[in-house]
Amino acid sequence: MKVLVIGGGAREHALCRSLSQDPAVTELHCAPGNAGIAQVATVHPVDQLDGAQVADLAVRLGAALVVVGPEAPLVAGVADAVRAAGVPVFGPSAAAAQLEGSKAFAKDVMAGAGVPTARSYVCTTAEEAAEALDAFGAPYVVKDDGLAAGKGVVVTSDRAEALAHAASCMVESPGRQGRGSVVIEEYLDGPEVSLFAITDGTTVVPLQPAQDFKRALDGDEGPNTGGMGAYSPLPWAPAGLVEEVLETVLQPTVDELRRRGTEFSGLLYAGLALTSRGTRVIEFNARFGDPETQVVLARLRTPLAAVLLAAGTGTLDQLEPLRWDEDAAVTVVVASEGYPAAPRTGDPIEGLAEAEADGTAFVLHAGTRSGADGAVLSAGGRVLSVTATGADLGEARDRAYAAVDRITLKGGQHRTDIALKAATA
Ligand code: AMP
Repeated sequence: MKVLVIGGGAREHALCRSLSQDPAVTELHCAPGNAGIAQVATVHPVDQLDGAQVADLAVRLGAALVVVGPEAPLVAGVADAVRAAGVPVFGPSAAAAQLEGSKAFAKDVMAGAGVPTARSYVCTTAEEAAEALDAFGAPYVVKDDGLAAGKGVVVTSDRAEALAHAASCMVESPGRQGRGSVVIEEYLDGPEVSLFAITDGTTVVPLQPAQDFKRALDGDEGPNTGGMGAYSPLPWAPAGLVEEVLETVLQPTVDELRRRGTEFSGLLYAGLALTSRGTRVIEFNARFGDPETQVVLARLRTPLAAVLLAAGTGTLDQLEPLRWDEDAAVTVVVASEGYPAAPRTGDPIEGLAEAEADGTAFVLHAGTRSGADGAVLSAGGRVLSVTATGADLGEARDRAYAAVDRITLKGGQHRTDIALKAATA
């Protein structure tokens, strides 16, 4: 099977790594890829937001499957273009990807499906926003209604800051994908869980739960980011969590979308809060989460290609149950200086081979590019996802951090407390 992966971050590197280890995959391609992906796949300089270009490439390569990694191409309709060209694709249509692209749409679907989530208001004026903030009280949760790469959410007890973020979300400007509206919602207490499910629009197959770390600094301080690390499994999670979420969240959401005529196939990502009043959905995403994918795929034993193809061809009901490693996995994100506000790029990264030398960890590239003479340069905010498995979270953590310590990137930063609480609990 020839497979083409769309995207160029650590999530796509994780997907490519797993696909490259799948004996069913005879040729692996990625567009646009990055310096690390280029080691396991043939990379192509294609605009990932351009459906026609991606479909052309898929047809030219004779791809049996296209896997769309990031949200932006999905929302831009890249999966629709590939499907229209007759190539099976893993990833939802633009219409179904609105589940991630519009927080207001997601809230509406959840209401229709009876899925438990935070109460919320969609506001379009400063007065409405102020009223909504006061109705819920502090801490305030203020969300940009459009795609914001995980950075459009402000959670704060400072009312002025909440109002200021609401105002910035309501400004429509060509540079952002905001929609001129803001979602203000009730604060959810309790630990967060990311649960992914693979679906063909009817059958839903949950993966193993993971937890990610959204704040930039140790102790969950600092600004929200795209994610600074993750681990799986969650030893503290209640028994039966996956079955409960399948029954109360994932299956009803997939059924509701099909009922509305916006069938969702691909990866349904539920961001959950386990609150004192029960499990609540914080958000849905329409694609594999980054960095949780790095740890979830590190534990998946079932070869990946057939699973993704079954979702793309509506045959998930015929798939054997997934097989998982008992091992734990931890990933630590190495980010560039200044991330997330103003990441510095173009610096050489050293120690990549040394980090993998003892075979206990592997380095997934996020924002990297190839420089002269085989050098690897930083090219984005999140630069690497250093991932390791081990008999338990403690061992996986030690291995991941030992590998991080062998890497040098000028001004590079990482959290030192990924999976720490779960490993020592
Ligand atoms: P989102 O982009 O919706 O996942 O939000 C990013 C992060 O903001 C989440 O992972 C949570 O940590 C936090 N967050 C979002 N919504 C809420 C909420 N209603 N209550 C508490 N924290 C939230």
